[in-house]
Amino acid sequence: MLYNTLARRRETFRPIRPPDVGLYTCGPTVYSTAHIGNLRTYIFEDVLRRTLEFNGYRVTHGMNVTDVGHLVGDEDFAEDKIDVAARAEHKNPLEMAQMYEVQFFEDLKKLNVARPHTVTRATDAIAEQLEIISRLFAKGFAYQDEFAIYFDTTKLTDYGKLAGQELQEKRVGARAEVVVDFGKKNPQDFALWFFLAGRYKNHILHWPSPWGEGFPGWHLECSAISRKILGQPFDIHTGGVDHIGTHHTNEIAQSEAAFGLPLANYWLHGEFLILPDKRMGKSEGNKITLQEVIDRRIHPLAFRYLVLQTHYRQKLTFNWEALEAAQRGLLNLWLQVDTSRQTAKIGCAEYEHRFRVAVNDDLNTPRALAVVHEMLGSTYPWSAKLQSLTAFERVLGLGLTPTAERNHFVPLDEAANRTVVGLITRREQARAERDFKTSDQLREQINSVLKKRGYLLEDTSEGPKVVPTIDALTEG
Ligand code: AMP
Ligand code: ZN
Repeated sequence: MLYNTLARRRETFRPIRPPDVGLYTCGPTVYSTAHIGNLRTYIFEDVLRRTLEFNGYRVTHGMNVTDVGHLVGDEDFAEDKIDVAARAEHKNPLEMAQMYEVQFFEDLKKLNVARPHTVTRATDAIAEQLEIISRLFAKGFAYQDEFAIYFDTTKLTDYGKLAGQELQEKRVGARAEVVVDFGKKNPQDFALWFFLAGRYKNHILHWPSPWGEGFPGWHLECSAISRKILGQPFDIHTGGVDHIGTHHTNEIAQSEAAFGLPLANYWLHGEFLILPDKRMGKSEGNKITLQEVIDRRIHPLAFRYLVLQTHYRQKLTFNWEALEAAQRGLLNLWLQVDTSRQTAKIGCAEYEHRFRVAVNDDLNTPRALAVVHEMLGSTYPWSAKLQSLTAFERVLGLGLTPTAERNHFVPLDEAANRTVVGLITRREQARAERDFKTSDQLREQINSVLKKRGYLLEDTSEGPKVVPTIDALTEG
């Protein structure tokens, strides 16, 4: 079952051509570093993809990268985010965009978010976008004035169906004061193409078109790129909840009008990550980046773990204490996993069943994590638990097996384990004999083996303990 925004209810997922599934994700606007709110949405989409694969589907995942045309706010003639940032940074817009794009994919990698199979930049799909405009003109859905080409929303009977908005409501909602182009017929009409005129006279990026030199409106790229990668209609379209009212509504309008076919059958939206008082936004000036998380010596996967603890359709109020608690929880899980090595042929069937039911219930990751914890506390042998964890890891991506990807944390292999255990025994002996010089030397020796794997030796009231810690890696 998946919650389909378009149907406003949970539905059984039925792909168009099983076992193939076409999945499209709205990509980042690469005018600055992504914040952890953006990253929450990409983690949700990754869990969706992994859950589909877990159920045996063959997923083709496509995504755009917005490197032109995304305006600041919803006004028609606001500035282009890329253009503004490039001018402020004194950079060529495409070079700047590519730098932030590289950074974005590095962040995803650290979070174990799989890269989509095909990623297409808006500026690499101009021809496909112009083709849609041509069709819209031919079918009477487009009109132009000296500033832009617009989509005429009154020509569709079901404009706004995704958000459940009537045209009338949207018209009232659209802020009349920001409509500066008097050639635009209806406030809710949106631009398909901007000409190099008025505010955009000196827009850095522009391309020729049959109607005049200019650049595409933001919504058009996703219609063109999703169709190019996945065909039309495809199965699932995803994004954050802020896309429902305008961006996805307009994608649907122009794609369906141009081709006479639905764009996608299922529309899934991730709720926002917010700060205790307000939403986090690149434009709100209160963003937290993944680098800031790492600078606080918190492992990126601890953020992933925190995100999975809340259902994707619930708001997640971020605070550092919760993230630190998530890190303690995750490191503890890793330690448990790493100290047991043998995998049994058969896992813990009852827990595997409950896990599958949870993730298939509209991606209920909080419940799936509860199942993981219950299983770990059960009386099943460790070898069986480890076998089940291998299956769970395919969906969760939290580094829950000794061989899983943990961004530099390397599990202790048998040989290292034996060396460390031997050295710890000798050190305990030295300490008992009050030979602190030898004991200190041995400690250093132990830590040199442990550190490169992301562990440290800690003396606790219950004796020496090997603990996973991000400090081990950042201390060099
Ligand atoms: P953008 O780079 O602004 O185009 O946004 C990239 C993705 O992040 C989109 O899917 C947005 O819906 C999503 N997004 C933006 N802000 C937040 C937030 N505070 N929490 C969760 N997702 C967000
Ligand atoms: Zn999009």
